Amino acid sequence: MKQLLKKILLIDLIKGLLITLRTIFTQPVTIRYPKQKREIAPGFRGRHALVRDPETGKERCVACLRCARVCPSQCIYIGYKEDETSGRRVLTKYEIEAFRCVYCGYCVEVCPVNAIVLTEFYEYAAYDKEENYFTKEKLLQNWDEFLSLYKHQEYINKFWYLRGIERIRLPYEKRFPTPIRIKKEG
Ligand code: SF4
Ligand code: SF4
Repeated sequence: MKQLLKKILLIDLIKGLLITLRTIFTQPVTIRYPKQKREIAPGFRGRHALVRDPETGKERCVACLRCARVCPSQCIYIGYKEDETSGRRVLTKYEIEAFRCVYCGYCVEVCPVNAIVLTEFYEYAAYDKEENYFTKEKLLQNWDEFLSLYKHQEYINKFWYLRGIERIRLPYEKRFPTPIRIKKEG
């Protein structure tokens, strides 16, 4: 009897229409991607980039190999040669297999010169799988791209801190002693 009454009075239909009506006047939870993009959460770990030294225009990396050693996925490949005059290492190859990376951030954390970062780029779609095999040039290009989009004057590497210092005990503004300065053109 109850079911019959429900059918006669179109209760289910009315309920459905009320839901539709309510939804018309509420903010959608979805966005029009890729035209619209979501705000990235602080500390987001996206596509890798090799930081370009603003003075020399070259990568900051000193080929110490720490990042490659600490990487749990073993997806960083580094090549270097020694400069005969200075005896310093010169980077010849720096490659990352992005699809093997687990985005732990260890490479960023361990780097003594702030040379590698995880940017806020989260888009990896490509026609060719090779595009996500980042070469040194691609990683530098990632940095340039990141730099051109970054809204602030200063980029702070959230992972980096001085060894032997408990970061949490420092005042907030001193927790990141050597931020990478981003100089904006114009
Ligand atoms: S984020 Fe982690 S897994 Fe990815 S390259 Fe760096 S150390 Fe390796
Ligand atoms: S830890 Fe830093 S300086 Fe050392 S090889 Fe990796 S990116 Fe280069």
